[in-house]
Amino acid sequence: MRLHCPICGERDRREFYYQGAAVMLERPGPDAGAAAWDDYLHLRDNTAGDLDELWSHDAGCGAWLRVTRNVSTHEIKTVVLAREIKR
Ligand SMILES: [Zn+2]
Repeated sequence: MRLHCPICGERDRREFYYQGAAVMLERPGPDAGAAAWDDYLHLRDNTAGDLDELWSHDAGCGAWLRVTRNVSTHEIKTVVLAREIKR
């Protein structure tokens, strides 16, 4: 698989480090039970199709990227610098 870093250009995916799904999780309160913390720390949706992910270009420019990738086919749909994403 190859990723197109907006700064460095197309590179082998081994130059990048996968940081995980780019989703905002709601952190449980300090008094939440063990089940709520287990859910927060370990349980994720695992659906087929497009997923927004965070990658860092560790062996390159070090930029954080949001990659939209089809997790079934590994087709890369978009790659954008995370710092340019507006909330
Ligand atoms: Zn780069």
